[in-house]
Amino acid sequence: MKQRRRNRLAVLVVIAAVVSFVVAVHYYNNRPMESKVHKLQSSLPREVQPLRIRPTDYVMAPEDAKLYVDNVINPIFLRYANNNQELPALRSRLIKLAQMINSKQLVYEAMPAYYPLGKTFLMKVDYDPQKFQVLLVVFVPAIKDVQQQKNQRDFEDNVAVALAHEMIHLEQGGQPFLAKVAGRNDLEAKKLLAQDEAAAWGKTIIEILRPLAEQGWNPEPKWLDAGEKLKMLGDNYQHPAWVINFYNPDRHH
Ligand SMILES: [Zn+2]
Repeated sequence: MKQRRRNRLAVLVVIAAVVSFVVAVHYYNNRPMESKVHKLQSSLPREVQPLRIRPTDYVMAPEDAKLYVDNVINPIFLRYANNNQELPALRSRLIKLAQMINSKQLVYEAMPAYYPLGKTFLMKVDYDPQKFQVLLVVFVPAIKDVQQQKNQRDFEDNVAVALAHEMIHLEQGGQPFLAKVAGRNDLEAKKLLAQDEAAAWGKTIIEILRPLAEQGWNPEPKWLDAGEKLKMLGDNYQHPAWVINFYNPDRHH
């Protein structure tokens, strides 16, 4: 009987040793991965580094931000995605974005704070450096500001266009794009970022903003002006005279 108990103890010790070994190997294998991700993230220019927003930056309760997204933003999102009368270039982006959220390729986050680089930023595609997860961060206080400044129609179009614009960034590469930017020198990285933003805004203006404005939407005057400028450049959003407008980080949306 004693012998059997001793054998059982020996088996338990062996199991514990095997489990400890497996756990240790797992952590050892994951360590270089984490530091690789950290290295990639820290070599990115400030504009695309993961958001460092702390609870002290919050200007509203996180639960209220979440409720606002559920009650105000999502009904607009769904209405535009489901309306087959809607502009195809806009609607198809919202459908794709909703599919990415539903399939968990994208984490949709209600942020109870403003974007640190600019209070007019409505949303941003971002990355979780730990999980390397793609996020769509919605800056709820900034969207509430737009709601107060505009009539309902203009506000809803604004939200829908902002969502479509973020989807255009994802179409242009998203995470692999950032990997391409990382490790470049500052000047090269800024050039890639400016080209990415210039193309995203070019497509937003040509495919969505102008047709919606023709249907009665009143976009921000600065985007109408930008649209005129782009037209003068033959709608070529790769033109250096267009790209130069996007070197400033506060132009990265
Ligand atoms: Zn953008």
